Amino acid sequence: MTDHPILHGIVLSSMPMGEYDRRLSVLTKERGRISAFAKGAQRPKSALVAAAQPFVTGAFTVVEGRNSYTVIRAEVNNYFTELRSDFDRTCYGLYFCELAEFATEEYLDESETLQLLYAGLRALAKGEPEARLVRAIFEVKIAYTRGEGPQVNECVRCRDHKGPFVFHVPSGGCLCGKCAGELFDEAGRKAYELRTQAVASGYFNLDDSTWYALRIIASTQPSKLFSFSVSPEVLAELRAVTAAWYAEHVDHNFRSLEMLLTVEGETE
Ligand SMILES: [Zn+2]
Repeated sequence: MTDHPILHGIVLSSMPMGEYDRRLSVLTKERGRISAFAKGAQRPKSALVAAAQPFVTGAFTVVEGRNSYTVIRAEVNNYFTELRSDFDRTCYGLYFCELAEFATEEYLDESETLQLLYAGLRALAKGEPEARLVRAIFEVKIAYTRGEGPQVNECVRCRDHKGPFVFHVPSGGCLCGKCAGELFDEAGRKAYELRTQAVASGYFNLDDSTWYALRIIASTQPSKLFSFSVSPEVLAELRAVTAAWYAEHVDHNFRSLEMLLTVEGETE
């Protein structure tokens, strides 16, 4: 009997292929993000029907082809049925999977992103902390796993550690007051003093608690990340700074985000 590789991971997406099969994208511990066919996964009696769905976490036995893999067996650890049975949570989960798909590549070590996705889906399933905060934490942390997270500990221009700081999105994070003064015109300096949340220049003068939350996200390992809560004001700042960060630094349209924004708008 041939030994087929067993890959451990999470199904990110599942597309029908013809009448009977499915094509999966799976984020794995061993091979990074892979494409895999699930033959017969649209046949009602197939053992792969339930496994060939987004969020499914488990061990996938595969046959390696030249350009892709074929899943022949799946041992499921978690179906995340709590997500699947709730439309709002499904939307968050699908967005997390799409972000993870965008952020990862084949054959690279993507184990940190895999841990982050699993922890994020678990937090959504649990319902704690609230989904909007889970989303903000996930969005910021995945930027770090890509090596593109904001600098939140020292001034990006002069490396000053003491602060106080402002967050300047185009510069990539922290700016000390001196460098901010050099960079910003009078309107910017006024905004700095008045602590406005956002101005057109991509500049934020964040609450101390928001800085603290950002530093926790930057330094904490994914499995322990979704264990704090914040005030509504801090959440609003986190969401605003994250949205500005993505608009500036992430050049990609996420298909699942449109539905998620509708869901968030309805529950505002
Ligand atoms: Zn500086």
